[in-house]
Amino acid sequence: MIDTPHTIAENLRKKLQGMKNAGVNDLIVDKKAAKLATMAKQKRIKNDLKAAPSKAAPSQKTINAGAVFVESQAAKKLGAYGGERAKRLAQMARDVANCAQCQLCSVRTQTVYSRGNPNSPLMFIGEAPGADEDAQGFPFVGRAGKLLDDIVAKGMQYNPDDVYICNVLKCRPPNNRNPEPDEIEACRSWLEAQIEIIDPVVIVAWGKFSAQWLLQSDAPIGKLRGRMWDVGGRKVVCTYHPAYLLRTPSAKTETWKDVQIVMDYFGRGKPLPMRV
Ligand code: SF4
Repeated sequence: MIDTPHTIAENLRKKLQGMKNAGVNDLIVDKKAAKLATMAKQKRIKNDLKAAPSKAAPSQKTINAGAVFVESQAAKKLGAYGGERAKRLAQMARDVANCAQCQLCSVRTQTVYSRGNPNSPLMFIGEAPGADEDAQGFPFVGRAGKLLDDIVAKGMQYNPDDVYICNVLKCRPPNNRNPEPDEIEACRSWLEAQIEIIDPVVIVAWGKFSAQWLLQSDAPIGKLRGRMWDVGGRKVVCTYHPAYLLRTPSAKTETWKDVQIVMDYFGRGKPLPMRV
């Protein structure tokens, strides 16, 4: 029986986790092979798009073989920031807008890539776009997003635009259902690339899906929050998703404790140390 790409990826992930558990912290990567693999993947995506019945117009909504392709809102915003990070992220946002790697490509209005400053040392990762995000093309712009901005502006005393914000999934699951494991896996490489480019000092995982993704854990969010984790040299703090806080206001106390861990790390009362 031939293994599917998903099975191969899962086996590789388990193997790497086993090596990590055994104390292996560094791997020498064959950069040439990795580059060739990336080029082959990009060529495959381009060929798939060419083979579709009609071409995706860059500024207009079209449907090819069930997938919806719409120009990325985030790419336009990112283009306004100078620097290498913004340039690479804007290009990736355009690539994500052409992604058809999972079933969500056919039910999205558009992809939801990111918002905020790509030069921020602080990155927020949520779960998946909801209805407002799907409509507007940016993460955390609905009621939960308003609460998130309040936590940042009124609680942490940072400008919400100074934080880089994205989700585990770039497309909205229908009826705001939870992301499926195969969708999270299909979208994994986009988020990994975002983290690599942003190179954040601290990541806040909002909700169990991003917390479990980052910590490679299946523990509930209640067990993962309340402390700062070290993940591959980055600091990670997990807390409740703002949508959960809207439903369960009593949990705000715990989230306030979590965000104070981040504030203490950067120095209370000090502005975020933005990079160039
Ligand atoms: S959710 Fe991620 S993997 Fe699935 S189609 Fe959207 S961008 Fe691609």
